[in-house]
Amino acid sequence: MKRAVFLDRDGVINDNRRPVNRPEELVLFPFAGRAIRLLNEAGWRVFVATNQGGVGLGYMTEADLAAVHRRMQALLSDQGARIDDIAACTHRPDAGCGCRKPRPGMLLELARRHGIDLTASYMVGDRDTDVEAGRAAGTRTVFIGEGSVDADIRAKDLWEAACQIVGNSSR
Ligand SMILES: [Mg+2]
Ligand SMILES: [Zn+2]
Repeated sequence: MKRAVFLDRDGVINDNRRPVNRPEELVLFPFAGRAIRLLNEAGWRVFVATNQGGVGLGYMTEADLAAVHRRMQALLSDQGARIDDIAACTHRPDAGCGCRKPRPGMLLELARRHGIDLTASYMVGDRDTDVEAGRAAGTRTVFIGEGSVDADIRAKDLWEAACQIVGNSSR
Protein backbone atom coordinates (compact mmCIF):
# COMPACT_ATOMS: atom_id res chain seq x y z
CA MET A 1 0.00 0.00 0.00
CA LYS A 2 1.17 3.49 -0.81
CA ARG A 3 1.48 6.31 1.68
CA ALA A 4 0.31 9.83 1.04
CA VAL A 5 0.40 13.37 2.29
CA PHE A 6 -2.97 15.06 1.99
CA LEU A 7 -2.66 18.83 1.83
CA ASP A 8 -5.20 21.48 2.55
CA ARG A 9 -4.84 24.14 -0.16
CA ASP A 10 -5.65 27.63 1.09
CA GLY A 11 -3.16 28.85 3.69
CA VAL A 12 -0.95 25.81 3.14
CA ILE A 13 0.07 25.87 -0.54
CA ASN A 14 -1.17 29.33 -1.44
CA ASP A 15 -1.68 32.60 0.35
CA ASN A 16 -5.39 33.06 1.01
CA ARG A 17 -5.48 36.40 2.73
CA ARG A 18 -7.47 37.39 -0.36
CA PRO A 19 -10.05 35.04 -1.86
CA VAL A 20 -8.93 32.89 -4.78
CA ASN A 21 -11.80 32.70 -7.25
CA ARG A 22 -9.83 33.13 -10.49
CA PRO A 23 -6.55 31.60 -11.71
CA GLU A 24 -4.72 34.94 -11.68
CA GLU A 25 -5.59 35.35 -7.99
CA LEU A 26 -3.60 32.25 -7.03
CA VAL A 27 -0.34 33.14 -5.24
CA LEU A 28 1.75 30.16 -4.16
CA PHE A 29 3.83 30.46 -1.03
CA PRO A 30 7.50 30.72 -2.03
CA PHE A 31 8.35 27.41 -0.33
CA ALA A 32 5.38 25.44 -1.71
CA GLY A 33 7.16 24.04 -4.76
CA ARG A 34 10.23 22.78 -2.95
CA ALA A 35 8.16 21.36 -0.10
CA ILE A 36 5.98 19.35 -2.47
CA ARG A 37 8.99 18.29 -4.52
CA LEU A 38 10.68 17.06 -1.35
CA LEU A 39 7.64 14.87 -0.65
CA ASN A 40 7.51 13.67 -4.28
CA GLU A 41 11.18 12.71 -4.23
CA ALA A 42 10.85 10.92 -0.88
CA GLY A 43 8.21 8.65 -2.39
CA TRP A 44 5.04 10.13 -0.94
CA ARG A 45 1.91 10.53 -3.01
CA VAL A 46 0.73 14.12 -2.65
CA PHE A 47 -2.94 15.02 -2.78
CA VAL A 48 -4.94 18.17 -2.19
CA ALA A 49 -8.24 18.06 -0.29
CA THR A 50 -9.84 21.49 -0.32
CA ASN A 51 -13.17 22.94 0.78
CA GLN A 52 -14.42 25.22 -1.99
CA GLY A 53 -17.89 26.12 -0.83
CA GLY A 54 -17.60 29.30 -2.90
CA VAL A 55 -18.66 27.21 -5.89
CA GLY A 56 -21.90 26.14 -4.22
CA LEU A 57 -22.44 29.71 -3.04
CA GLY A 58 -21.97 31.06 -6.57
CA TYR A 59 -18.73 33.06 -6.09
CA MET A 60 -17.04 30.99 -8.74
CA THR A 61 -17.91 28.23 -11.19
CA GLU A 62 -16.59 24.68 -11.44
CA ALA A 63 -14.71 25.87 -14.54
CA ASP A 64 -13.06 28.70 -12.55
CA LEU A 65 -11.99 26.20 -9.90
CA ALA A 66 -10.59 23.83 -12.52
CA ALA A 67 -8.65 26.75 -14.04
CA VAL A 68 -7.24 27.69 -10.62
CA HIS A 69 -6.06 24.12 -10.18
CA ARG A 70 -4.54 23.94 -13.66
CA ARG A 71 -2.54 27.07 -12.87
CA MET A 72 -1.51 25.64 -9.49
CA GLN A 73 -0.22 22.49 -11.19
CA ALA A 74 1.57 24.51 -13.88
CA LEU A 75 3.30 26.77 -11.33
CA LEU A 76 4.33 23.74 -9.27
CA SER A 77 5.50 21.89 -12.36
CA ASP A 78 7.83 24.81 -13.16
CA GLN A 79 9.51 23.98 -9.84
CA GLY A 80 9.65 20.26 -10.47
CA ALA A 81 6.78 19.53 -8.06
CA ARG A 82 3.67 17.46 -8.64
CA ILE A 83 0.30 17.03 -6.97
CA ASP A 84 -0.98 13.57 -7.85
CA ASP A 85 -4.69 14.31 -7.50
CA ILE A 86 -7.00 17.03 -6.24
CA ALA A 87 -10.31 16.61 -4.43
CA ALA A 88 -12.53 19.61 -3.84
CA CYS A 89 -15.81 19.85 -1.96
CA THR A 90 -17.83 22.36 -3.95
CA HIS A 91 -21.03 21.98 -1.97
CA ARG A 92 -22.51 24.82 0.01
CA PRO A 93 -21.08 24.88 3.53
CA ASP A 94 -24.56 24.24 4.95
CA ALA A 95 -25.31 21.34 2.59
CA GLY A 96 -24.41 18.67 5.12
CA CYS A 97 -22.37 16.68 2.60
CA GLY A 98 -19.90 13.99 3.63
CA CYS A 99 -16.94 15.56 1.84
CA ARG A 100 -16.63 18.99 3.42
CA LYS A 101 -13.91 18.93 6.09
CA PRO A 102 -14.04 18.23 9.02
CA ARG A 103 -15.72 15.21 7.46
CA PRO A 104 -13.23 12.74 5.96
CA GLY A 105 -15.00 12.02 2.63
CA MET A 106 -12.38 13.52 0.31
CA LEU A 107 -9.52 11.69 2.02
CA LEU A 108 -11.39 8.39 1.99
CA GLU A 109 -12.24 8.76 -1.70
CA LEU A 110 -8.66 9.68 -2.70
CA ALA A 111 -7.34 6.76 -0.64
CA ARG A 112 -9.77 4.35 -2.29
CA ARG A 113 -8.99 5.63 -5.79
CA HIS A 114 -5.22 5.44 -5.35
CA GLY A 115 -4.78 2.49 -2.97
CA ILE A 116 -3.45 4.52 -0.05
CA ASP A 117 -2.78 3.22 3.44
CA LEU A 118 -4.34 5.98 5.54
CA THR A 119 -2.66 4.88 8.76
CA ALA A 120 0.73 5.48 7.09
CA SER A 121 -0.35 8.86 5.74
CA TYR A 122 -0.58 12.47 6.90
CA MET A 123 -3.14 15.25 6.65
CA VAL A 124 -1.61 18.75 6.71
CA GLY A 125 -3.74 21.83 7.31
CA ASP A 126 -4.02 25.24 8.90
CA ARG A 127 -7.41 24.78 10.56
CA ASP A 128 -8.74 22.51 13.23
CA THR A 129 -11.20 21.15 10.66
CA ASP A 130 -8.25 19.82 8.62
CA VAL A 131 -6.86 18.03 11.65
CA GLU A 132 -10.31 16.65 12.47
CA ALA A 133 -10.74 15.35 8.92
CA GLY A 134 -7.37 13.63 9.05
CA ARG A 135 -8.12 12.06 12.39
CA ALA A 136 -11.55 10.89 11.18
CA ALA A 137 -9.91 9.31 8.13
CA GLY A 138 -7.28 7.60 10.27
CA THR A 139 -4.20 9.57 9.19
CA ARG A 140 -1.58 11.24 11.30
CA THR A 141 -2.01 15.00 11.40
CA VAL A 142 0.10 18.12 10.94
CA PHE A 143 -1.13 21.52 12.03
CA ILE A 144 0.40 24.62 10.48
CA GLY A 145 0.08 27.84 12.43
CA GLU A 146 -0.38 29.24 15.88
CA GLY A 147 -3.67 28.06 17.41
CA SER A 148 -3.97 25.47 20.16
CA VAL A 149 -4.90 22.57 17.93
CA ASP A 150 -4.10 19.05 19.04
CA ALA A 151 -2.18 17.47 16.15
CA ASP A 152 0.59 14.87 15.95
CA ILE A 153 3.03 17.39 14.46
CA ARG A 154 3.09 21.18 14.48
CA ALA A 155 4.95 23.21 11.87
CA LYS A 156 5.25 26.84 10.98
CA ASP A 157 4.70 26.28 7.27
CA LEU A 158 4.52 23.61 4.59
CA TRP A 159 8.29 23.49 4.18
CA GLU A 160 8.80 22.69 7.84
CA ALA A 161 5.93 20.20 7.69
CA ALA A 162 7.44 18.42 4.67
CA CYS A 163 10.86 18.27 6.35
CA GLN A 164 9.35 16.74 9.46
CA ILE A 165 7.37 14.22 7.42
CA VAL A 166 10.40 12.99 5.53
CA GLY A 167 12.35 12.98 8.77
CA ASN A 168 14.87 15.45 7.54
CA SER A 169 15.19 18.89 9.07
CA SER A 170 18.03 19.96 6.80
CA ARG A 171 17.52 22.86 4.48
MG1 LIG B 1 -6.68 26.27 4.89
ZN1 LIG C 1 -19.06 18.31 -0.15
